[in-house]
Amino acid sequence: MRFEDLLRPTPKGLYCPPGDFYIDPVRPVERALVTHGHADHARPGHAHVTATRETLDIMAIRYGDDFSAASQEAAYGEAMTVNGVSVSWHPAGHVLGAAQIAVEKDGVRIVASGDYKRRRDPTCTTFEPVACDVFITEATFGLPVFRHPDDREEIARLLKSVGQFPQSAHLVGAYALGKAQRVIALLREAGYDKPIYIHGAMQKLCDYYESRGVALGPLAPATVDRAAKDQFEGAIVIGPPSAFADRWARRFPDPIACFASGWMRVRQRAKQRGVELPLILSDHCDWDELTETILEIRPQEVWVTHGREEALVRWCELNQIRAKPLHIVGYEDEAE
Ligand SMILES: [Zn+2]
Repeated sequence: MRFEDLLRPTPKGLYCPPGDFYIDPVRPVERALVTHGHADHARPGHAHVTATRETLDIMAIRYGDDFSAASQEAAYGEAMTVNGVSVSWHPAGHVLGAAQIAVEKDGVRIVASGDYKRRRDPTCTTFEPVACDVFITEATFGLPVFRHPDDREEIARLLKSVGQFPQSAHLVGAYALGKAQRVIALLREAGYDKPIYIHGAMQKLCDYYESRGVALGPLAPATVDRAAKDQFEGAIVIGPPSAFADRWARRFPDPIACFASGWMRVRQRAKQRGVELPLILSDHCDWDELTETILEIRPQEVWVTHGREEALVRWCELNQIRAKPLHIVGYEDEAE
């Protein structure tokens, strides 16, 4: 079997002809296998969705219980058969419930890794390398310039600033699924035990992480009562990046704008967004993690999707690994 006969890019997303299913389809389909809950990968309106318990729950939180006509739960390490194609699920280390999906038939195995990262994350299960013939990798940060520093250094910079400016509220922009909970968990690991204030848009997902055993410590709503504005002096407030552009953010005392994102490596991006304290915290691999993962798995072929495809393809070729860009449209880096 040729690799493309098992899995191929189509306008709706990655399609498996023998199994008649899509992985992370960008348009409504009959049968979807979904790697994780970020909105560009997990879309509502499919007839049938298979995903991990956490991803199904996250889709229900975001889209309502009727996000799909029918759903089926998959567990890490579990193998199932879909129309004669073997499908197994493996941790991706990206956000809670994120999975790589391995598809196998007639001795050919392709792993679609969805979004992934290699470093430890207290809020989700660590990435597991899976031997395969074709490894499909994202390339969100697929340029050598992207090297993410140690998470602990970034959190230490935030805490140092909180100590230096006790009259200010530190407003940390972080995406609601994954990044926000990771920032909170990393703050707790660093010994920060005060209440952390969260924007209303994050409440349900934080509650859900807690219900799945991810301890986040004391959280309080970041609702500003004009009379009690000073309650936020010295506080850490976490909200979705979009909220920081509106009036909500200006109600806090002497706010210091922070943003937790892999893109904060690019000074110009931080400047454009008015970010005073950029925190380089990413839920995607940096360049070294991407290339080390490919060398570790050593697939026959690498297919590169969403991000800087060409640089990683070129790197693979220089390392005698066949590679091609998939050019699937519809994946934005929501989580960054
Ligand atoms: Zn993602």
